[in-house]
Amino acid sequence: MIIGGGASAVSTLAHLAGDPGVERITFVAPTPIGLGTAFGTTDPLLLCNTSVDVTSLVADGRSDFLDYLAARGHPVHRADFAPRYLVGQYCRERYTELCARARAAGTKVTHIRERSVGVERSRDGYRVLLAGGAVVTGTDILLCVGADVPKLPDEVRAHRGDPRLIESPYPAGRLRRLPADARVLTLGTKLSAIDSALVLCSTGRRTTVLTSPSGTLPAVRTALCRDDRAAFDRAAWSALDPDDASFDRRLARMLVRAVRAHRRSAGSERPRLGGDATRLLDHERRLAAEDRTAWQEIVAELIDTLNTHVPRWSPAARARVLARYRGLMSRYISAIPLRNARLLARHLAQGRLRVADAYPERIERAADGWTVHWPGGATETFDYVVNAAGYRVAPVSCTGTGLRIGGPDTGPGPEVLADLRLRLPHRRSPERIWAVGASAGGRYPIVNYLRAAAQHAAVVAGQLTSGTPATPQRSAARPGPRPTIHRSAA
Ligand SMILES: Cc1cc2nc3c(=O)[nH]c(=O)nc-3n(C[C@H](O)[C@H](O)[C@H](O)COP(=O)(O)OP(=O)(O)OC[C@H]3O[C@@H](n4cnc5c(N)ncnc54)[C@H](O)[C@@H]3O)c2cc1C
Repeated sequence: MIIGGGASAVSTLAHLAGDPGVERITFVAPTPIGLGTAFGTTDPLLLCNTSVDVTSLVADGRSDFLDYLAARGHPVHRADFAPRYLVGQYCRERYTELCARARAAGTKVTHIRERSVGVERSRDGYRVLLAGGAVVTGTDILLCVGADVPKLPDEVRAHRGDPRLIESPYPAGRLRRLPADARVLTLGTKLSAIDSALVLCSTGRRTTVLTSPSGTLPAVRTALCRDDRAAFDRAAWSALDPDDASFDRRLARMLVRAVRAHRRSAGSERPRLGGDATRLLDHERRLAAEDRTAWQEIVAELIDTLNTHVPRWSPAARARVLARYRGLMSRYISAIPLRNARLLARHLAQGRLRVADAYPERIERAADGWTVHWPGGATETFDYVVNAAGYRVAPVSCTGTGLRIGGPDTGPGPEVLADLRLRLPHRRSPERIWAVGASAGGRYPIVNYLRAAAQHAAVVAGQLTSGTPATPQRSAARPGPRPTIHRSAA
């Protein structure tokens, strides 16, 4: 049973289809398979912030997404940032092909268009509970539910359901339909907030203001690609002790050394965490245009390395270190494409867009919109508030007999083991339930990334089809031979 229907679910199918040992694969998802939150958008303006090279349903080998695009006549390079709707089309088409491959090997594939609300242990496997009250059974459960619940900041939570509060920037068509003279406040300054700004400003809207507690935009890059040269020494990473007082110094030294040893481009600057957002964007846009962003060349391997080593740390060390580096990771690991930075800079220069240097103290509902109270006493009125503060996974909590998916966040969640299996409290053996993608975020630090989900899918499929326990990131971030998915795609 695959619960979820986004890219992670299709990647899991890619690793299972064709195996004669799989009797049946059932997808449980309310949406068409392949079209999740980020890649289900139809707006051609919205780009991936990861290059084609790492935006593939199969993590190893040459990018399957690159092959998909090239086979359809797109002039594409592995470093390009493709429009996100093309990733959705890619997932959708591969899903159809993979279903055919699975069926040819004797596997039945079905899709139940419903949301799952829980999983319960039964005598010979699991019962998956559906929102409509029905139950389906399976021996092995894969949680591929993604992070699709918008995080609603405290300032507007009481206004859930208000027509002047747009709780998520997707589908982007909702933003495009706002009146041309609407003044819009967007809560957030990271990826979905930037999407919101690009869509709102592209339709000539007069005032869009982005605001967040950090007040910073992501850094700017020209590619996120794997590299055939190793940037890091595995032994040094294994020896890095998150509880040691010298941790930060040693980590900084390893990162600086990796950037220096690796750089093909003209140079790099010290990382920056803040400052005036508009000036920083202009500066980083220039650096990227002049090919002075050497740091970007180690990011793909850094993500793989973090996902390999951090899960082995104690939960307390993981939480402490990741909290300390959150700002740095969100600016650089989730950097934006130069094209988006140029568009933002143009909208900022033309006065259509502003990045607020503060976060509202209060946001009040007024007669025809909102009154925003800024620190220092100033107030400003807006017609709409768009929430773009990010997404989280629907809460998964343990019940006496299994898991509840969604609903109120009550009770502890299951433990995610290094091999991605879940363990319920008070039970010694892990369940035959696996987390793929965002659901594994309790253990793996970077999961909102298709490459990470594809690595998870390979590991889980390996355990299902051969019984071999494994952990993700067995392979380096380097491109290798062609992925198996391509062979069946004809
Ligand atoms: C704005 C934005 C931009 C992004 N850009 C990139 C990028 O450029 N590159 C990249 O690698 N990653 C990007 N990501 C992260 C990206 O979402 C993941 O890499 C990947 O798409 C996640 O796929 P998924 O299948 O895990 O989740 P999703 O695509 O969110 O799909 C989740 C699926 O699960 C279903 N579902 C949820 N709950 C249930 C339930 N209870 N029962 C049944 N079904 C359920 C949903 O209906 C949906 O079908 C971005 C994310 C965001 C928000």
